[in-house]
Amino acid sequence: MSSDDTVLRVALPVPLARLFDYRAPEGVDVEAVPVGARVRVMFGPRELIGVVAGTGPIDTAARETKAALAVLDTAPVLQGELLDSLRWLARYVHAPLGEVLATALPAALRQGGPMPDTDEIVWRPVAGASFDKLKRGAMPQRLAELLSERARTEDELDDALPGWRTAARALATKGLAEPIRTTPGRDAVPGTPGPVLNDEQRAAVDAITAHDGFGAVLLEGVTGSGKTEVYLQAIADCLARGKQALVLVPEIGLTPQTLARFRARLGIDVHALHSGLNDTARARVWAAASRGQARVIVGTRSAIFTPLPAAGLIVVDEEHDGSYKQQDGIRYHARDFALVRGKALDVPVVLGSATPSLETLHNAQAGRYTHVRLSKRAGDAKPPAVRVLDIRKRALDAGLSPELLAKIRATVDAGGQVLVFRNRRGYAPVLLCHDCGWSAACKRCSTPDHPHPMTVHAGGRRLQCHHCGARQPAPMACPDCGGLALQPQGVGTERIEERLVELFTDVPVLRVDRGSTRRRDALESLLAQLGDRPGILVGTQMLAKGHDLPNLTLVAVVGIDEGLFSADFRAGEKLAQLLIQVAGRAGRARRAGEVWLQTHHPAHPLLQTLIAGGYRAFADGALAEREAAGFPPFAHLALMRAEAKSAEPNARFLALAKSCFDDAGIADVDVHGPLPAPMPRRAGFQRAQLLVSAPHRRALHAALDATLPRLRDAPEGKRVRWSLDVDPIDL
Ligand code: ADP
Ligand code: ZN
Ligand code: ZN
Repeated sequence: MSSDDTVLRVALPVPLARLFDYRAPEGVDVEAVPVGARVRVMFGPRELIGVVAGTGPIDTAARETKAALAVLDTAPVLQGELLDSLRWLARYVHAPLGEVLATALPAALRQGGPMPDTDEIVWRPVAGASFDKLKRGAMPQRLAELLSERARTEDELDDALPGWRTAARALATKGLAEPIRTTPGRDAVPGTPGPVLNDEQRAAVDAITAHDGFGAVLLEGVTGSGKTEVYLQAIADCLARGKQALVLVPEIGLTPQTLARFRARLGIDVHALHSGLNDTARARVWAAASRGQARVIVGTRSAIFTPLPAAGLIVVDEEHDGSYKQQDGIRYHARDFALVRGKALDVPVVLGSATPSLETLHNAQAGRYTHVRLSKRAGDAKPPAVRVLDIRKRALDAGLSPELLAKIRATVDAGGQVLVFRNRRGYAPVLLCHDCGWSAACKRCSTPDHPHPMTVHAGGRRLQCHHCGARQPAPMACPDCGGLALQPQGVGTERIEERLVELFTDVPVLRVDRGSTRRRDALESLLAQLGDRPGILVGTQMLAKGHDLPNLTLVAVVGIDEGLFSADFRAGEKLAQLLIQVAGRAGRARRAGEVWLQTHHPAHPLLQTLIAGGYRAFADGALAEREAAGFPPFAHLALMRAEAKSAEPNARFLALAKSCFDDAGIADVDVHGPLPAPMPRRAGFQRAQLLVSAPHRRALHAALDATLPRLRDAPEGKRVRWSLDVDPIDL
């Protein structure tokens, strides 16, 4: 076969589950284009960036095979294990390979930018240079002083001496200092030693390092039991063997505090990957990892797509956390994909949590994972005492009972800090007319049967829909009866904060939720501002995780009752995890902590079980219920969602889907629906869904394989926006 007859088979980010043939560009030998390199091509009228997935013989029946416009890489950007794992992922989520590869690449590379240069520039004094003539205290002299201690990288200088570049140019012009290009990552300074591990921690580290290849380890340890110390030791061991470590953390868990702790302990540059980074910085970390220069990468969900040519260990901290599941586009689960990659890379994968997901517990109980436990808090910290406060018939003040307010008073008087946890931001969940019963509903998210309330914000002046983002001023009078008796109903964090500010004038009251802290650093500076002083924090689950607050001695949980009666089969699991996580914030160090839980349902089995037996007792019961009901992890689910301006196209499309599944006739596959989605309308779209379930993955995927090609070609599918979610976490 001559190269003229060979074409590039290109994966393009388009919703078509196939590859596209292109000839090599004019003057480029097709043999010289590696699999995994990016190409720029015309696709219809558009220019797209695709990834070469292979080569093949030209299809002589095709009308015309266009040439690619350009090959962007001489070496593949995706290759080896990562490319193989991504091919697997595309099959598993039943998405086009091109879309999966585009999701995996950092934005800058996806858009066709070059693989960034990851060499470091180090500034050092020129041999024999004398800095005596520099003006004392001026920037060039301050820079010279830093450099005469030791050579510094540009990143270090950014931290140490903002605005140093002009001074550096001045020193270079005078022949006093010079920039040197180096390859980073090889040499480490010795890290600061950590605490001596207790026996359980030692056993956990041994269980991880004992694996000479793939093995999954569930590290179940109560909050504050020293899981992070175990990760750090296992990572140190991995670095000592010259390998790379990848650590996944939840969206809200990646704090500057965490990174600083890793850097200090490991004595090596720790590369962070999170949504706060700009595209250039992300691409640099990705490129540094792909060259083996970045040895430790700590990142949120999409960091699971980091290339790891020298992989030694993958850690998934808080493995139960919902932020690991991507909820749109390519709906992957970073924890599950971590296990796939760990297996392909033949390295251990550690799943850590105080509250493991039922899926993971089930796998551990089935013997597929090594299960190690840390049963007590590390150091001297004691577990918090939990008290359930029955608030039936109690007069509540902004949702807070008199007993709780007295307890908060006593706590701050004793010099402690209080966290009031309410998982609802805004001033109040509903605005109600006391005269006629009208309530403010979102026009774009409500149906006649399902009014979706707008949340009251800004002390009652503004209404906002938390689902579609719609905002409007609150009406002055009731739009229905013209009455002036509009009242916010219920409480959100804003209203609690407002009342606590009135009641506690002698201590700071700080609110922490997405409204008050849009930026990551805002939370840091808010907490730094508080320091160790007595004070009150009011917050949503943003506060449930992350920052250590050693002086936090009281956690008050209010307004959880709605979560006790949700229809979602995972609601109980999520609530139990949240309660344990929030409670875990109390008494992390010097002082013993207390958790007070306000409820109208003190006898609810979930609360009773959690308090009497802890998370494991809850989980055992919940697993038995799931088994009886045929829910995951005892069944495997895929959810097909459809949305359209009116209900009819959804109904037609999902009815077709259902008949396709029936035609496929795979044994044991059940199809439920079409049913309205839990939110039957959102942002002006009607929403419906079809749930496919099977006791074995194989049957589920066989059914999807048989059905999806027909749906992709069907005209009914063009009139709706539809998507498939394999292993959905929200039904
Ligand atoms: P987790 O990740 O399980 O919440 P950490 O690893 O953050 O727990 O540990 C909680 C606190 O206990 C930290 O301040 C940590 O430095 C300390 N710690 C952990 N292990 C030990 C130990 N073996 N001896 C003393 N202190 C420890
Ligand atoms: Zn009214
Ligand atoms: Zn809305």
